[in-house]
Amino acid sequence: MKIRRPFHVVLLALLLLLPSACRSADTTAVPPAVTAATTVAGVTAEAGLTRSSRQFLGVFDTVTTFIGLAESEADFARIADVVERELTRYHQLFTSFESYEGITNIWTVNERAGKGPVEVDPLILDLLEQSIAANARSGGRVNMALGPVLQLWHDCREAGLADPDNARLPSMTELEAANCHTDISLVEIDRVQGTVTLPDPAMRLDVGSGAKGLACELAAQQAAALGMRHFLLSVGGNIRTSGFRDGRGEPWRVGIREPESEDPNDYRLALAVSDMAVVTSGVYERFYTVAGKRYHHIIDPDTLMPTERYDSVTIIAPDSGLADSLTTALFNMDREAGLELIEALDGAGAIWMAGDDVWYSSRVGAWLLD
Ligand code: ADP
Ligand code: MG
Repeated sequence: MKIRRPFHVVLLALLLLLPSACRSADTTAVPPAVTAATTVAGVTAEAGLTRSSRQFLGVFDTVTTFIGLAESEADFARIADVVERELTRYHQLFTSFESYEGITNIWTVNERAGKGPVEVDPLILDLLEQSIAANARSGGRVNMALGPVLQLWHDCREAGLADPDNARLPSMTELEAANCHTDISLVEIDRVQGTVTLPDPAMRLDVGSGAKGLACELAAQQAAALGMRHFLLSVGGNIRTSGFRDGRGEPWRVGIREPESEDPNDYRLALAVSDMAVVTSGVYERFYTVAGKRYHHIIDPDTLMPTERYDSVTIIAPDSGLADSLTTALFNMDREAGLELIEALDGAGAIWMAGDDVWYSSRVGAWLLD
């Protein structure tokens, strides 16, 4: 299904997510810059539950928002504490940018490349297996072993953002040399020993395509296990919903960003979802400019350059980890191949945006708000 700019919605993020009864209370809980965890509660939802929200920084370099319906404010705080604590733990395990005292994480695995097996938390093995599955499903279009190539782009982007006048692209010679160390089939996972091995010392894992989504999924499962039925967890826009926003039957509402707008609260369309994850990869998330041209952060494994197919790809799926790993994959796939992949997955859908065009997979109609 293809349409041209069906409608243009401009709404504040949380106005979109919340019913009118609690707009003022919750929107005031979301200042533009949050410096510490904040909780706002006290709004009684229709089901007789109390709606509360908490926002915090510090995990996955982004803002996390947790909105939930609980018996009481104290009950919400108890569950939100666990969500925050668990997300912090997943961040520390999954990051490739920092090391933490006493924690073996992806940074450690990279640092130990070529030095034998590394014993890791089983959650790291789950993350690596999720990434390997996404690689297989997408015919290699998402590849966590692309680390050496992604590192070159990352370094040029950081330098270019710091000093725009001297911004440069990585050279094709550098990129091709780095690409000699990106064979994902060499990553050895031993579930019995609980280890991962990178046999080539120049190998580096980059789990940026799916780590945030898996962390969001695991934290959502924790909230559910503690008895919370109705909630929305957004880790920097990687969204997982459960139940209903009014506790009865009103789905959660999620806006999909207008890619051409500078304003992150400018939405091109909106979805109504329950028990679903909604994850978007967009060219606007991270980019820098060289000689007047923008270069974003999703790299085509064939050209080793930022892919130029779409402005954003959104996946709606029951599992947030799967959705996140596949947004990056679909970004690097032609629409026909991506459509085939998504239609074959139970309960999943995709939305592609490029210029003024929007394309939907078949299941998306059930979630579109007009
Ligand atoms: P975000 O939501 O943080 O923007 P995405 O899910 O869109 O993340 O994934 C983008 C990230 O994935 C990049 O920042 C990079 O770390 C990594 N990445 C980019 N291209 C690829 C690729 N082809 N395969 C695997 N990972 C990639
Ligand atoms: Mg992704």
